[in-house]
Amino acid sequence: MSQRSREQRQQRQQGGVPWPCVLCGAGGAEFIGIYAPGPVRNALIGAPAGKQRLVPYWLCQECLELPDVLQRVESELIAVLAVPERN
Ligand SMILES: [Zn+2]
Repeated sequence: MSQRSREQRQQRQQGGVPWPCVLCGAGGAEFIGIYAPGPVRNALIGAPAGKQRLVPYWLCQECLELPDVLQRVESELIAVLAVPERN
């Protein structure tokens, strides 16, 4: 087993929150989605030009039923992933 996967496993056991919901942080989220940002946001989160970045995320049942769930997920993911602009 690699060092990296061992650390991840320990984290999961200690944190007690497997598959956290991207919106509310509840563990054991049941639904997985893949966020594919458009060109502008793709660059914003540090993907090389011309390369589509895909970001997997989890949602719990409760958040999945929010009316504007996709917008919420998008702004949450952008907030977490956005890299500072280099001048
Ligand atoms: Zn949730």
